[in-house]
Amino acid sequence: MKLLEDRILKDGRVIGNNILKVDSFINHQMDIALFNEIGKEFKRLFSDVRVDKILTIEASGIGIACITAQYFNVPVVFSKKILSNNIGTDYYKADVISFTKNTLYKIFVSKDYLKTGENILIIDDFLANGQAALGLINLINQANANVIGAGFVIEKSFQGGREKLLQSGIKVESLAIIKSMNDNKVIFE
Ligand code: 5GP
Repeated sequence: MKLLEDRILKDGRVIGNNILKVDSFINHQMDIALFNEIGKEFKRLFSDVRVDKILTIEASGIGIACITAQYFNVPVVFSKKILSNNIGTDYYKADVISFTKNTLYKIFVSKDYLKTGENILIIDDFLANGQAALGLINLINQANANVIGAGFVIEKSFQGGREKLLQSGIKVESLAIIKSMNDNKVIFE
């Protein structure tokens, strides 16, 4: 997606050699005009299957998932990272290794919001080594729902996440695919 690639080149910052900071338009301040174009593009890429629900992970995926859901006319569910009282006692749970923090955390979704047979589209901001998406797939599988695909705004293809998701037989679509990041320079595939 040319618009997104141009924005990454203009406003993205490379931290070390494997973290891309996009705080000024995705992860802290959010550019809603850009999110609208992202939502339209996900709708185009996943228009061949019925989508009942979008699943994402808090916090950064929520804004993108909500705008995207307007094009599919479906609800958004986000997995929680903290088990608050109001989730109740009936929930699905999975482990995720955090790429950015290098820690293990758990994600939770109430059994009320993932149901057997539903077609679920995963949407998230980044695909790095795929752990967050694998955690979401685990939750969907526990609910006996169907993963119809996974859409990412930015993929870092040198970190191997896509291969893991393809092994699970899932359609993967990313709007900007970065093949390398060196000396603050981003190279797209
Ligand atoms: P994965 O689980 O695929 O390794 O990493 C995906 C999650 O880590 C995303 O939900 C995102 O929040 C975070 N993440 C991974 N790589 C980056 C990055 O380069 N920049 C930012 N801002 N977040 C990242």
